[in-house]
Amino acid sequence: MATITEPARATQIIHETDVLVVGSGPGGLAAALAAARSGVRVALVERFGCFGGNITVVGVEGFAWYRHEETVEAGGIGVEFEERAKEMGAATPESQSLSYELDSEGFKLVADRLVEEAGIHAMLHRQFVAPIMDGTRICGIITESKAGREAILASRVIDATGDADIAQRAGARTVKTPLEEMQAASVMFHVAGVDKKRFMQEVKNDPQTYADWSTGEWQVETDGKEDTMFSPFLKKPFEQAIKAGVIPPHLNTISGTWGAVHDSGEMTYMNLVHLAGCDGTDPDSLTHFEIEGRKQAMLAIEALRRFSPGCEGVRLRNFGMSIGIRDTRKIDAAYNLTGADVRGQARFDDSIGIYPEFIDGYGLLILPTTGRYMHVPYRAMLPKGAQNLLVTGRAIGGDQVAHAATRNMACCAVAGQGAGVAAALSVKTGQPLDQIDIGAVQKALVAQGVRIS
Ligand SMILES: Cc1cc2nc3c(=O)[nH]c(=O)nc-3n(C[C@H](O)[C@H](O)[C@H](O)COP(=O)(O)OP(=O)(O)OC[C@H]3O[C@@H](n4cnc5c(N)ncnc54)[C@H](O)[C@@H]3O)c2cc1C
Repeated sequence: MATITEPARATQIIHETDVLVVGSGPGGLAAALAAARSGVRVALVERFGCFGGNITVVGVEGFAWYRHEETVEAGGIGVEFEERAKEMGAATPESQSLSYELDSEGFKLVADRLVEEAGIHAMLHRQFVAPIMDGTRICGIITESKAGREAILASRVIDATGDADIAQRAGARTVKTPLEEMQAASVMFHVAGVDKKRFMQEVKNDPQTYADWSTGEWQVETDGKEDTMFSPFLKKPFEQAIKAGVIPPHLNTISGTWGAVHDSGEMTYMNLVHLAGCDGTDPDSLTHFEIEGRKQAMLAIEALRRFSPGCEGVRLRNFGMSIGIRDTRKIDAAYNLTGADVRGQARFDDSIGIYPEFIDGYGLLILPTTGRYMHVPYRAMLPKGAQNLLVTGRAIGGDQVAHAATRNMACCAVAGQGAGVAAALSVKTGQPLDQIDIGAVQKALVAQGVRIS
């Protein structure tokens, strides 16, 4: 491909901080809060106009839909997200679990409040474009925005972009799932005009289960105990729509789960469109699948209108601000979690929190209906090949099955809180991130209300 050479330029340093967090999803938001509460200066950079990542940008509202009677969890900032959302009227009871579904719009306000209370320096509408390096050590970032290119310097950097953007450009080794094995992307949407009483009556008359996920196009392996449990799953209306010629036969992947049905007639978190082959690090692929996903969403709405009792009057309320990406780059970390770890209750000396045995992805679904849980190791956030950098959220090191557990938002919050506390401690003590006193990190996490063992 032909190239051009850009001229060298001087770039204004607009801000200096102790801990710089880039990306504000469940991982980055938890990291920024944890670091700020540890008493250091924190800046939080986000490319969009709100904090929350997939929760607010994509409309992923099912934060803890895995939670059952026996589920054992870390507590900490993840649970605080739910509790604050409840207090602020931004959460509703979730249909399949003992949890609350976050309101993707209301959570924007919850995140604003949390960021303000913690005294975090908020930097929205800035996209990370390049690291500032001193050899293999990162010491800041360049952003692009309406103000042009700007530099931010930091003592420690946390990459919470979900895609390991910073790690990759800083020269750390990253791995990307081959396109044909990548988890599908989804264009998420919310609808209005549902007759809640009729819709819920139909759900009661014909309850769907997790075993129904394994019909037609998909085969999902479970532990067996999941198969008879209720799932807010919708497939039948789309099968009928294919038979009636409303949906073309090749779109037999339109199906999935609904989130919350509100008295106002809104039904949110419609996770029905699955787009295989979308590469979330390629803007041409993203362009194609944003447009294709919106077309499929409208077909799904038409099918609901015709074949789902209670949905005769539905209309599109809104799409998520962006297509939802589940799977891109992960770092090659000091320790890469394995499928055996997440399925085998792994225990690590450098645990920064626990996560229940909840595995959802790559054709596997295991729900934590037992007390089984694993440790999340600090080393999974330490990228090989770049110093002074932690990577948190869904890009931490691990294989596919491990990622099917760690990508979940509550696990991203566990990792994020660990990263934030460690980065703050590293600033205060001068210990490099890869030589941190892990016992001191664990003590600080316990003081912040996290269960680490
Ligand atoms: C459709 C869909 C449904 C899902 N359903 C569930 C579910 O029900 N339950 C569950 O637990 N998980 C679910 N997930 C997975 C979960 O949402 C993600 O794995 C999780 O949000 C990852 O958190 P994160 O903090 O790592 O990144 P994200 O939530 O992706 O946040 C990353 C943030 O970084 C910002 N960013 C990215 N690049 C840059 C840059 N270069 N400069 C500045 N900012 C940047 C982004 O704008 C974003 O705000 C779902 C995912 C999808 C896509």
